[in-house]
Amino acid sequence: SLDLAPILANPSRIKQNLLDRNYPLDPSVVDELTALETEAKGVRKELQAARERRNAAAGAGGKGQQATEEARKEGAELKKLLKRLEPHLAGLEKQLQHLALQLPNTSHEASPVGDEDQAITVKTFGPSIPSPPPSAIPSLDHLALTSPSGSLSSSSSTPGKPWTDFPSSTLTSGPSWPLLLNSGALLELALTQYAFSRTLHRGFSPVLTPDVVRAEVAERCGFRPRDGEAQQTYFLSDGTPEGAKEAGLVLAGTAEVPLVAMSAARIFEAKELPLRQVALGRAFRAEAGARGADSRGLYRVHQFSKVEMVVVCTEEQSGELLEELRSLQEEILSGLGLSLRVLDMPTQELGASAHRKYDIEAWMPGRGKWGELSSASNCTDYQSRRLGIRYRPSTTTSAPSKTLFAHTLNATAAAIPRLIVALVENGAVLGEKGEVVKMRLPGCLRRFWLGSG
Ligand code: AMP
Repeated sequence: SLDLAPILANPSRIKQNLLDRNYPLDPSVVDELTALETEAKGVRKELQAARERRNAAAGAGGKGQQATEEARKEGAELKKLLKRLEPHLAGLEKQLQHLALQLPNTSHEASPVGDEDQAITVKTFGPSIPSPPPSAIPSLDHLALTSPSGSLSSSSSTPGKPWTDFPSSTLTSGPSWPLLLNSGALLELALTQYAFSRTLHRGFSPVLTPDVVRAEVAERCGFRPRDGEAQQTYFLSDGTPEGAKEAGLVLAGTAEVPLVAMSAARIFEAKELPLRQVALGRAFRAEAGARGADSRGLYRVHQFSKVEMVVVCTEEQSGELLEELRSLQEEILSGLGLSLRVLDMPTQELGASAHRKYDIEAWMPGRGKWGELSSASNCTDYQSRRLGIRYRPSTTTSAPSKTLFAHTLNATAAAIPRLIVALVENGAVLGEKGEVVKMRLPGCLRRFWLGSG
C-alpha cells in the first residue's frame, strides 16, 4: 500500500505539483485525503481503546459470578462496537489508497515548469541540419518516399518495391495501422537487432514480454487506461458473443509495463541492483485526438515495435542511471548518423510516473522540423510503491535491515517507425525530378541486414 505520510506532511506542495503538471485531477483531492485521514485517525484510536477494554474484560472473567456476568455484558457490547468500527476503518483506508493512487509522482526541482515549449535544450549533436531549398521539402516526406506510388518505388535502385503500404493496411485494419514490406520490413528487423546489440553490450538482459497486460498493472505503472479525456488504451473483451464484458486486460502501450511488473512483489538484495533489462514489444496506442502532420504515415501510428529498457535500482543510484540511459540512447542514435538534440522535459510532459525526463529528437526534413525519437524517465519510487518492488539495503551489522522501495527507470532504445521516418527523410538522395536516386542507410545496420541489398 502507498505511504500517505509524505502527502499528508506537505499537502500544499502536492497541490502545487498537480498544478505544475497541469494534471487532470482536481487539487481538492488533497483536502479530501487530509479530511479522510483525520477521520481514520479518530477511528483507529477508538478501535485501539475498544480492543484494550475487550482484553481487560476478558481478564476479569473468572472473578466471581457477578464479575463474570458484567464482563460478559461488556464483552458483548465491545464485540458489537468492534464489528462496526473495523469495517468502517477498512472502508476509509480503501478510500485513502484509492485517492492516493491517482496522484502523480513529484517533479525534479530542475525540471522546467510548464508546457512543452518550456523544454530546455541540453545539447545538440550529430551532423548539422541540412538546409534544403523549400521546394525540396515535400519530396522528402517519408510517406511519399516509401509508399507504393512514391518516388522510392520508381527509383532505379529499388524498382517497384515500396517500403510501406498504407492503402492496404487501411483496408485491413484502418488508418494509422502501418504495414512495412521489402526494405521497410528488413529495416525494422535490422534496427531491432542493432538496438539489442547496443544494449546487451552495456549489460542489459534480453526479455520478450507479453503485449497484453492487466489494466490494473498498467494503472499501477502510471498509465491511466480509463482516463476518459485522452483515451489511449485498447481494452480487450472477454470474447463472449456479447463482447461487451471487459476481460480486465489491455494492449500494452509500451513494454515498460510488463518489464516493470516483472519485478512486482519482489524483494531484491542491494547487490542485485541495478537490474537492467531490455525488451521488444509491440506498443498499442489509440492516439485519440491525433491529427494533422503527426498522423501522416509512420510518425504517429496505432501499433509499433519498440525496444525498451527498464532499470530497477536503489534510491542512491537512480539519478546517475538516468544520465547513463541518456548516454546509451545518444550512442544508439548518433550511430545512425542523425542530427539530434536532447531536451530536459518540462513538468507538463512528465505524465503520471516520471520525476524527471529527457527526450531526444531528430531533424526530420520531410516534416521540416524536429521529431521525438526517444524518451528516458526516472520514475523514482512511484511505480515500485504501487507494485511492491523492494530491496534490502546492505548493512554492516548482522541485524536484518528494513526493506526500502526500489527506484525504476525506463528509456526507449529504438521506437522503430520514427527511426524509419528519420532515416528515410535524411537518407534519400534525390534526382532532378525528385526521384530517389539512392537511399543511404547507416553502415552500422549492415551486419544486421537480412536481405541482399
Ligand atoms: P513514450 O513511451 O510515449 O515515451 O514513447 C517512446 C517513443 O515512441 C517516442 O519517443 C516516439 O519515438 C515513439 N512513439 C510514441 N508514440 C508513437 C506512436 N503513436 N507512433 C509511433 N511512434 C510513437
